[in-house]
Amino acid sequence: MINIFQPSLGEDELKEIEKVFRSNWIGRGDSVKKFESLFAKNLNESANRFYALSCCTEGLFLAAKIFNFSEGDEVIVPSVSFIAAGSAVINSGADLVICDVDKYSLNATAETIKKKITSKTKAIILNHYGGHPCDMDPIIKLAKENDIFVIEDSACAVQSFYKGKACGTIGDMGIWSFDAMKSIVTGDGGMIYLKSQDLLETVKEECYLGLPARETSGIDKSNDEKSMWWEVQINRPGRRTIMNNISGAIGIAQMNKLNEFQERRKYIYEKYNDSLSKIKSIRIPPSLPEHSTNSYYFYWIQLKKRDELAKYLKENSIYSTYRYWPLNYVDFFQAYEELENTEYAKSATLNIPLHSSLTDGDVDKIITTIQEFAS
Ligand SMILES: *Cc1c(COP(=O)(O)O)cnc(C)c1O
Repeated sequence: MINIFQPSLGEDELKEIEKVFRSNWIGRGDSVKKFESLFAKNLNESANRFYALSCCTEGLFLAAKIFNFSEGDEVIVPSVSFIAAGSAVINSGADLVICDVDKYSLNATAETIKKKITSKTKAIILNHYGGHPCDMDPIIKLAKENDIFVIEDSACAVQSFYKGKACGTIGDMGIWSFDAMKSIVTGDGGMIYLKSQDLLETVKEECYLGLPARETSGIDKSNDEKSMWWEVQINRPGRRTIMNNISGAIGIAQMNKLNEFQERRKYIYEKYNDSLSKIKSIRIPPSLPEHSTNSYYFYWIQLKKRDELAKYLKENSIYSTYRYWPLNYVDFFQAYEELENTEYAKSATLNIPLHSSLTDGDVDKIITTIQEFAS
């Protein structure tokens, strides 16, 4: 079976992990800090705005916490979003308001968001679908006019830029994921960007037991000036969701290969575009907003006979899927509503394999199989 997503791991990661083992400190430390700075540098941003954590889902829940989503607030989430975006809102007590997406990019747009804005709207949690940047200028303008926080779920956008600025650093907060299936992996892991330095300090406390944010965090600090260094005071009830040095080490090795990964992904994406655009019954992903770049995390096609093609691919040992099942169709959220473009996206979209370990043979097989189906 050709996998739809797959990590690329090897000796480089093992070497970095070995360094961590030799240091005998596998908790949060230098490897995580180095990973944070490599990640920030890749986005042309300063590392002091970034903080690594245990996963991106945690970042979504933290967003609800630090922007103080609460009862009486409304938070807009696009229908085609990761499930945890909806859960984070519901969990906060705020109302989950689902907006439609663009039919072809599956991203929210200023128009679809605007329809859902009320005096109670507190924030929007955007999703850059598969690394394809949302058209941010009109969205930021709309958010400013209505005093709404913009949170960018950039889980799939590790190297996406909109008009020269990295996705995830355009709004108030950005969150990335390094789980086992993402463009770069750290086992489990996530990264947060915050525009506000104060909120970033809050996040550090939330992520580490509520202890006052200090780079050398740790409860028992025997080198403290205090005579009773075992005394503990906290600033808030905190959890423990920091990244550790083992994950950080994997992240360092992955960052060093990110450009190589991206080149391969881009090559495959363009090859799909070239061949599949020739098939009349199939629609390829739309072009990007002007002056933007993609992370090429998803490749998706849209067609009437989506379900039949998925089955045909599977019979030919090629796995495909549809991301993401729209939140207005998740019963638990009790937010059902018919949204026109979402209906189309849900019935026509198919994600096909895209990752840096696909061989040229795999790519050819995928293309030929789709061509066979369509002919
Ligand atoms: C994978 C993913 C997440 C969750 O990331 P984790 O690190 O697994 O918690 C969130 N949002 C999007 C869009 C994702 O694809």
